[in-house]
Amino acid sequence: MIIEYHRPETMAAALSLLARPQPLTLPLGGGTTLTQMHDLTCAVVDLQRLGLDGLNGEGDVITAGAVLTLQGLMDQAGSDTALGRALDLEASPHQRNRSTLAGRMMTADGRSPLATVMMAMDARLVWLPEGQEVGLAEWFAMREGGRKPGLLVASLTWSAGMELAFEAVARTPKDRPIVCAAAARWPSGSIRAVLGGFGNAPMVVYDGLDGHDIVKAARKKYAQAGDAWASAEYRQEMAGVLMKRCLAALEKKEGQA
Ligand SMILES: Cc1cc2nc3c(=O)[nH]c(=O)nc-3n(C[C@H](O)[C@H](O)[C@H](O)COP(=O)(O)OP(=O)(O)OC[C@H]3O[C@@H](n4cnc5c(N)ncnc54)[C@H](O)[C@@H]3O)c2cc1C
Repeated sequence: MIIEYHRPETMAAALSLLARPQPLTLPLGGGTTLTQMHDLTCAVVDLQRLGLDGLNGEGDVITAGAVLTLQGLMDQAGSDTALGRALDLEASPHQRNRSTLAGRMMTADGRSPLATVMMAMDARLVWLPEGQEVGLAEWFAMREGGRKPGLLVASLTWSAGMELAFEAVARTPKDRPIVCAAAARWPSGSIRAVLGGFGNAPMVVYDGLDGHDIVKAARKKYAQAGDAWASAEYRQEMAGVLMKRCLAALEKKEGQA
């Protein structure tokens, strides 16, 4: 139950509310999950007046505000890009118009196509008040231990120069993936490959210079990935197939450059 609602005009006021020991006070993004947590008694701090909904590029760093909606990001990324296709699978248009980028990353599980792609992009959460930057893989590990690196996420950042590929397989075209793969390649030749579709968080398969057998590593990563949605054998096979397609797409883009 939400016992207090605050909509501060400044970040200082928001942080001061969130730092209170009592009552438990949480940031409110789109509220799609928070307003449904009926067993939780808390106060909420609505972030919508803090100007955290932009998407800006400076040098080779892109910064997305924490309350940028999924639809807002999709509009700017383009629906036919790897990021746009992941956003399309992430949620229905109605949910995309409400859910915020940070809210989604707080609650995403391993089946989230958006978290899978953002992890491949090596997106980082910027937590206030310290301004600590935490990679998504690190955040999901912290979350397992019930820890948070700050009071709220102000933004997500990632580098601008990478090429990105995304592939997914699901029961129906708009269903959440049973397996999805994302791979990013930087101009330095460095590749970051991630698998999603299973478990509590997406998994990094490889992060380093090209040359490693990433397809084999992907298959190995999902060797035990069985649940009610798919057997481990199926996921292992598809992990290899989808990762191979991602790497081929990156190679094609490099050839066109
Ligand atoms: C009908 C429906 C279907 C759904 N289906 C799925 C599904 O299939 N798979 C799935 O993974 N999810 C699903 N969800 C969950 C939901 O889509 C996500 O949890 C949602 O995207 C969260 O974003 P939000 O902005 O609404 O966050 P909120 O609900 O506002 O907040 C969610 C959590 O994140 C915290 N938070 C929000 N913003 C910040 C911030 N800036 N800094 C720090 N913490 C913050 C809040 O305190 C809260 O704990 C579904 C939800 C609905 C309503």
